[in-house]
Amino acid sequence: MFRAILIDKNEQGYGASLTMLDDTRLPDSDVTVDVAYSTLNYKDGLAITGKAPVVRRFPMVPGIDLAGVVQSSSHPRYKPGDKVLLNGWGVGETHWGGLAQRARLKGDWLIPVPDAFSLKQAMAIGTAGYTAMLCILALERHGVRPDQGEIVVTGASGGVGSVAVAVLSKLGYEVVAVTGRTEEEPYLKGLGASHVLSREDFSSPGKPLGKERWAGAIDTVGSHTLANICATMRYRGVVTACGLAAGMDLPATVAPFILRNVTLAGIDSVMCPRDDRIQAWARLATDLDVRKLDSICKEVGLADAIDLATQLLEGKIRGRLVVDVNR
Ligand code: NAP
Repeated sequence: MFRAILIDKNEQGYGASLTMLDDTRLPDSDVTVDVAYSTLNYKDGLAITGKAPVVRRFPMVPGIDLAGVVQSSSHPRYKPGDKVLLNGWGVGETHWGGLAQRARLKGDWLIPVPDAFSLKQAMAIGTAGYTAMLCILALERHGVRPDQGEIVVTGASGGVGSVAVAVLSKLGYEVVAVTGRTEEEPYLKGLGASHVLSREDFSSPGKPLGKERWAGAIDTVGSHTLANICATMRYRGVVTACGLAAGMDLPATVAPFILRNVTLAGIDSVMCPRDDRIQAWARLATDLDVRKLDSICKEVGLADAIDLATQLLEGKIRGRLVVDVNR
């Protein structure tokens, strides 16, 4: 038997609860993992509360992230005792996920935990941190370098934003953090932001083009914020778009793209190929100062995850929540 959060939808409605499950209920797959830590990402908040149709099958164990130790495996790459982590691949949406003491998964979805990280540190980073690194790799791929000017990060106090600020600053970029919580300025400067700007400066409808400022951008917010960032990129600047915390819409014009040669790069972590994941985690191992994870991450127990899901969606959680599934 193992403890898990289980989401169900029936005549009584939609709900998540902490429950005990038998191993026979685990889905069919080739690797069984004793989970040590999971996390709460924005998407987990949507799944647990039912605020968006993230969960595609019921009942569902949520949790798009997990780190743990292989218990049994028929996959050639893994043997019992191996430390593994998983991000995405529809886990917690269509396949039972990480907010449980045990999970059964496809070995092809797993990657070894880099030596630089403990299981807890791997989850302090989680999908949010790995997505931040995918954004940074995309900036690099499109030719952005630290000497070209400021990089703006929106939703900066959130999970993706916090790790993005920390990594960019270690790489030598001048980072401008945009937040709705300006009281978090000391936190963001502690992570390495040079300046902190208010979310309000970006969230209203703006002009098709504004004064050129940013060499690069990591946007977790979408909507008018993303449109205004595109409008204020420098010539040949690169915007990476990974989130929709303010909305799915993009009320923009083509002006930045056809007049300033701006690149808008989409970032998806869920179906990202294995080689790119390995590269992103290897770069996190070298380019993230793990000491900063102490200020970014807070540890909570499995039962706490249900209540915290609502607070996460309300933008009240700073940084990352790591879930110790054994407490
Ligand atoms: P998070 O920890 O909840 O952070 C989101 C942050 O966005 C909040 O902390 C807040 O930061 C800001 N925010 C919240 N509501 C807002 C609003 N109405 N208007 C403007 N800003 C708002 O979430 P996360 O895990 O970092 O994820 C961030 C976004 O990226 C989410 O939309 C998530 O779905 C997406 N995401 C996408 C991928 C992918 O594969 N593409 C992977 C991971 C995450 P401040 O208080 O600092 O403003």
